[in-house]
Formats: sequence, C-alpha cells, structure tokens
Amino acid sequence: MFKTVDDLINVYQSINDKSTVAAIKAQALAKFDIILPEKFDDFDTFLKVIFDEKLTKASAKTYFEVHLKPLVSPFKVPSNKAVEKVFRKVKKIQIPNWSSLDLRENTYVAWHDPGQGRKFILFYDEHDKLQGTFGEFGSNAIKGLCAICQEMTTISLFLATTKSSGDGTYTKKGNYICLDSDACNQHLYDLSSFHGFLNALK
Ligand SMILES: [Zn+2]
Repeated sequence: MFKTVDDLINVYQSINDKSTVAAIKAQALAKFDIILPEKFDDFDTFLKVIFDEKLTKASAKTYFEVHLKPLVSPFKVPSNKAVEKVFRKVKKIQIPNWSSLDLRENTYVAWHDPGQGRKFILFYDEHDKLQGTFGEFGSNAIKGLCAICQEMTTISLFLATTKSSGDGTYTKKGNYICLDSDACNQHLYDLSSFHGFLNALK
C-alpha cells in the first residue's frame, strides 16, 4: 500500500500533465477502495493527505506510521511446534527469526533456506489455520511480473512439488515470484492474487 503512495509522489514530482496525474490518482483510489473502507473510518482525510500534490515521502511515511499501521493486525507468531507441524515432511526446518520481522507488514512470512535451495511460505488460510508451502527457489533471477503481488520486480521461479490427485505421482508446478518476500508483502494489497498463487500450486 505504501508503494502505491510512493508511486503517486513520484508522479506528482515528475509529471506536469494534469489529466495524466488525475488518471493515476483514479487508479490509486481504486486500489485503496479494495483494502481500506472496512477498517478505516477516516477515508476522506486519508485521501486528502495522499492526493495533495505537495506531499513528500517523509510526511507520507509519518502519516502511515501514525494513522494506518495501528489498524493493521499483525501476523500472529506461531509456536515452533506449529511451524514444524506445517512442514512435517521437511527435515530440519528453519524457524523464521520473528523478531527481525515487522509483522504488520506481513500477509505471509517467507524465508529462504540456501542449504536446501528452497523457499518456505507460511500463511493463515481463510479459516485462520496456519498453512505452508515450499519449493525450489532462487537459482536465476529475472525482471518480470510477480504471481503473488502482481508487481514488475526482480522475480525467480518458485517450483513446488505437489502430489497429483489421481495416481499419487508427484508433479512440479512453477510460478515466478518476488525474490525479496519482504518487498512482495509491501506490494501486496489485493489478497485474491495471493490466493490465486496458492490455488495454482494445488
Ligand atoms: Zn511479489
């Protein structure tokens, strides 16, 4: 979400054409409409702040920290046992370094285990149940569209091994996702794209 505001500020500072700026504001409004109204009772003030073309990155950041972040529920830290249970087929699962994460920024938590050449992804499903997926990851990064956050970034192939339903054989399913999962979480405003990524792995 902050990324969208950041992009807006870049537009204010670099584009003079009023109709272009208005069109980009309309796109941003459509994005914020998806995520904000339910939890946010001061939408009008928010729009006033972000649509002010004199807005600076520093003041936008302060506004977010003070007014928006407290509304976001943080990712609930599970016990080590719960993480091990999710990845019970994996030997020697690493446990994320929870204290190094800003859990209000995380829709999902992912970490890379270079020893195994795998990325692990932990999330809560629609029933608030802890779930996980993992796959081979990170061998070659390219520029492209991330399947999770739908941003053009540096991505790499996430290759998950899944059991096909019928005959019990295993197949590999791949999707390109952000190399940097923290940045991916910051770009992620529409959860349906994250769920689409997960469904594609099934
Ligand atoms: Zn991403």
